[in-house]
Amino acid sequence: MPSCEMCGKEFPSLRRAVIEGTTMSVCGNCVKFGVEQAGPKVEVTGRSQTTQALERRAVRGKPRDIYDQMQEELVEDYGERVKQARQRAGLSIEDLGKAINERVSNLANIEKGTYHPPDALVAKLEKALDVKLKEKPEAPSGIGGRPVGNAGAKELTLGDLIKKQLEKK
Ligand SMILES: [Zn+2]
Repeated sequence: MPSCEMCGKEFPSLRRAVIEGTTMSVCGNCVKFGVEQAGPKVEVTGRSQTTQALERRAVRGKPRDIYDQMQEELVEDYGERVKQARQRAGLSIEDLGKAINERVSNLANIEKGTYHPPDALVAKLEKALDVKLKEKPEAPSGIGGRPVGNAGAKELTLGDLIKKQLEKK
């Protein structure tokens, strides 16, 4: 016997009503919570309409995931960011090169903005210097911006990270 999707009680037949924008199979008592739909009785299929409604709700509740899936792009001022982060850490280009095992000439060109670092190198620089070099293009309207960066997520100080990197050598 089908059961009412509102109260869960079983009834020989159910009516169809739109409740909060979702079509549900409900009993005669619960139909008043929504707008009753005319039409054939709801056939009981494998996936209940409640399940489908919940899935729809789940999708609606996660706009951020869509945003998170958007491709990140190298920021225009990546060179400046690398340079500033490096100087903030009190490192020379040579120190940084040693720390992340990268050619000093490459790093110098990155800081000048004449060399677009490949993804792997961007990731290394971001990690070593605790700097954000990639950002998503503008947030789609309706979702709204959210803070970019990793402020507050620091467990180690910059110096600690670099020291660790150097100790490994
Ligand atoms: Zn009911």
